[in-house]
Amino acid sequence: MNLRTWWNDKTRRGGVLLAAAVLVAAVTGRDFVAQRKHFAVHRGPGVTQVWRLSDFLPSLAGTRGDTEVFVLAGRKPGATVLVMGGIHANEPAGHVAAVTLVESAVMEAGRLIVIPTTNASGFTAGDPQEANPPAFSLATRTGLRWFRYGGRGSAAVDQWPDPDIYLHHPSGQSLSGNQTRNMNRAFPGRADGNFTERCAFAVTELVRREKVDLVIDLHEASPEYPVINTIVAHERAMALAVSVAMGLELRGIKIGLEASPPNLRGLSHRELGDHTPALAVLMETANAAEGRIRGRMTPELIVTGRDKMYVKAAKAGRLFVSYDERGHPLEQERVLRHLAGIEEFMKAWTEENKERPLLPATYPEQAIIEKEGLAPYLRASADAL
Ligand SMILES: [Zn+2]
Repeated sequence: MNLRTWWNDKTRRGGVLLAAAVLVAAVTGRDFVAQRKHFAVHRGPGVTQVWRLSDFLPSLAGTRGDTEVFVLAGRKPGATVLVMGGIHANEPAGHVAAVTLVESAVMEAGRLIVIPTTNASGFTAGDPQEANPPAFSLATRTGLRWFRYGGRGSAAVDQWPDPDIYLHHPSGQSLSGNQTRNMNRAFPGRADGNFTERCAFAVTELVRREKVDLVIDLHEASPEYPVINTIVAHERAMALAVSVAMGLELRGIKIGLEASPPNLRGLSHRELGDHTPALAVLMETANAAEGRIRGRMTPELIVTGRDKMYVKAAKAGRLFVSYDERGHPLEQERVLRHLAGIEEFMKAWTEENKERPLLPATYPEQAIIEKEGLAPYLRASADAL
């Protein structure tokens, strides 16, 4: 029997194709399941309590949306600030800055509440056709520290299918269907809504019940996006944001300031500012890894921000940030910007509200990060991701 007659037998052919399918499913399935495994954020010396989002919306219990909420309460009373990283899991500076706070900051007065993986589902899968690596690592004094790199929205396995058009609740604003899994279009959320709306609702409930005074949402954007290295502030938070921008300039960190557009609904700074008493802002840094004109996608690109295509684009005057061979490093520039911004927000708040301060006792220092990166502030991972 030659190969052709052997292959012409339907049963044999079916068997071979089935075996191939099982092999592909086993290999890709292993990676898929591995990325859905929970990864630990170490509890640093300043953590006084750990909550979960399901404490604020019980129906999230047992879902991928139920993530840890770290509370760092000072010895003395004061105000409450909420820092959110990872609403977009493909914007690592916010996530890493939040983890750094949990692992190293200690409050003296007031409460710092930190959610490092605000859309936890987003960390369990990358975006289709982006070739995102599932993880990247940073060096610490005790070994490598691993972080997950995910996609922009909740994973499709947690919320499916996308409608043709996404109608934001409660404004009724219409957006393209895939925005239905974008948590930063889902605020204020609703308790009986889709998965992403429920995650957003739990955050809104936390802000209300815990009487959060100030919300800082950490993001990144591609270097060709106009709103970059910028604070976006709700109108009630604008005066505070102006002081922060000046404070950052004095530290050698140039930052822009934008008003939160009143007609763009679903964003944390717009909706938490409108629906809760909190002052709400967002901060953006430059991430080439999520840009459209980047070259090869690698874990190094996430960490160094070095990319030849962006250097070319900058020379052609196409970008909103400067870009040269030095790139935009995650630790010394992007995470530092977020950490310095949060510190300046606490300082500016305290100047305005002396009887309800936000005072850190220990906080990651700019000079040390510029010299050594985040190594002194992070603990190594037990296992590689
Ligand atoms: Zn974002």
